[in-house]
Amino acid sequence: MNLEELCEIASICTKCPLHESRTKLVFGEGPENAKIMLIGEAPGKNEDETGRPFIGMAGKLLSEILHHADLDRSQIYITSIVKCRPDGNRKPKKPEYCTCIDLYLSKQIELIDPDIIGLLGNSAAYALIGKKNIKQTHGKTYELKGRKYMALFHPAAALYSRALLPQLKEDMVTLKKLLNPD
Ligand code: SF4
Repeated sequence: MNLEELCEIASICTKCPLHESRTKLVFGEGPENAKIMLIGEAPGKNEDETGRPFIGMAGKLLSEILHHADLDRSQIYITSIVKCRPDGNRKPKKPEYCTCIDLYLSKQIELIDPDIIGLLGNSAAYALIGKKNIKQTHGKTYELKGRKYMALFHPAAALYSRALLPQLKEDMVTLKKLLNPD
């Protein structure tokens, strides 16, 4: 199965309650052979309306952070731990993200096979590597089941607290240095 086929299956998924609040599935976007995957918490309002991840203010800031690290968004595969928007922008519940990771995200990671996976914010870091305190874990790398992960602040957090932005930019530069040489 390829990413397109997996996305088709996900687009009619009803395996967790989040399908009830979905307008459009936000499966993820980016090259199938991306060396970097970035994983966030969940689609928001703009993402739910368009079906695209990380648009709006947080997405704009993410592009700026990537640019600072001499990276371009077009090089990166971007997705979330759940593909459907939780109502009222609440955090996804454990059974919801566990189901979605199991059915879709784990297969996306397997198919893309990135060098490094950036986990944006506490929810993604906890769901994927069991790390809770992003203030302590950001910028560190973790190896789990043969995969390399780094936790970073979520761009939306840096929108609310601009003091986080320099650290987020620095962590993205560190993440880029972890890419395997060509
Ligand atoms: S969030 Fe994931 S598991 Fe839940 S309905 Fe959407 S695609 Fe299915």
